[in-house]
Amino acid sequence: MSYQPGRQFLNIPGPTNIPERVLRAIAAPVLDHRGPEFAQLATEVLARIKPIFKTTQPVLIFPASGTGAWESALVNTLSPGDTVLGFDSGQFALLWTQMAKKLGLQVQTIATDWRRAPDPVAIEAALAEDREKKIKAVLLVHNETANGCMMRVAEIRQAIDRVGHPALLLVDTISSLGSADFRMDEWGVDVSIGGSQKGLMLPAGLAFCAVSPKAVAASKHAKLPRAFWDWEPLVANTGGNFPYTPACNLFFGLREALNLIDAEGLENVFARHARHAEATRRAIRGWGLEIVCAEPKDYSRSITAAFMPEGYSADGFRKLVLERFNMPLGGGLGRLSDKAFRIGHLGDTNDLMLGGALFGVEMGLGAAKIPHKAGGVQEALNYLADQSGGAARLA
Ligand code: PLP
Repeated sequence: MSYQPGRQFLNIPGPTNIPERVLRAIAAPVLDHRGPEFAQLATEVLARIKPIFKTTQPVLIFPASGTGAWESALVNTLSPGDTVLGFDSGQFALLWTQMAKKLGLQVQTIATDWRRAPDPVAIEAALAEDREKKIKAVLLVHNETANGCMMRVAEIRQAIDRVGHPALLLVDTISSLGSADFRMDEWGVDVSIGGSQKGLMLPAGLAFCAVSPKAVAASKHAKLPRAFWDWEPLVANTGGNFPYTPACNLFFGLREALNLIDAEGLENVFARHARHAEATRRAIRGWGLEIVCAEPKDYSRSITAAFMPEGYSADGFRKLVLERFNMPLGGGLGRLSDKAFRIGHLGDTNDLMLGGALFGVEMGLGAAKIPHKAGGVQEALNYLADQSGGAARLA
């Protein structure tokens, strides 16, 4: 491929742009993963990651991508033949249920049209009907990266409590962690699953399971086979004592990413993401395109998906945008394949980066001769300019 000058606008919904400071932190000389320096680093990072999940419980870190944390959550808490409640509400929620089936679990599924998150009322009804308490776990995906719909975890928790169902609540926060408010302890989440390559602004390679006492208690009796994914050696590990070689250099990166999040303030990070999500939606509406998430209360704060007009290829559009403007956009996944494209607005982004991304989309729509209205970028800029958030931080 020939050289494309200027920086690439990476606007997929993860992996996300890595801040220079984090890249530099990762580029450290390799250290002894059994030595005192790593023990100190790991102790610090294991403690400082907890507030990102809003938990005081142990956070277990595996050298893996998020998919590994999915598996770890299932095999440590469940036994062969157990029933779980899963969702056909987007590609990632669906993939997790498929993994559960492969592991020998029974999956009861609630489906949506992939344009909204599952309704807490439907979850409540499914659990109320389960009089024999066969359902052992509920598998939520807080932010469905494939369609930009967010599940309302707090409401779902209340629904579970209303019917007094004992199922464990397992929540994938892979594309919401560090981007949208998530409160593990307050919402009574039993396992929170995360990955490093999205809101945490790192390369892929760290998978997280934050585990409640109820989840740890379940792991003592759960009978699904597990070896690498076993929690036991990690639950007691508050320092550098990993049962395998940890991804040490990513720990340096994670410490620096946590420094950046602390410096901005976690709640400010969330506000920035919410603001960019709203600006993106205004741009999409301004172009006359349709946002995939049809339910405003389910709008994602980290990714927005838009439909291509009928008869136009979303993948063809993305190819043109990549080749012409050096901007990767997310593709439609599963059922949305070639029908939608996704703009990731999470991680290390600012107004100008978002503006550049939207500018690229608007130019791409024109270049690809996709029927649309001009002016989506202007809608986003008007909104960003009106908001005091950015200006307040300058003051
Ligand atoms: N869950 C969600 C919500 C995701 O967005 C992804 C990846 O994008 C995954 C799970 C799978 O994680 P990984 O690709 O890190 O294995």
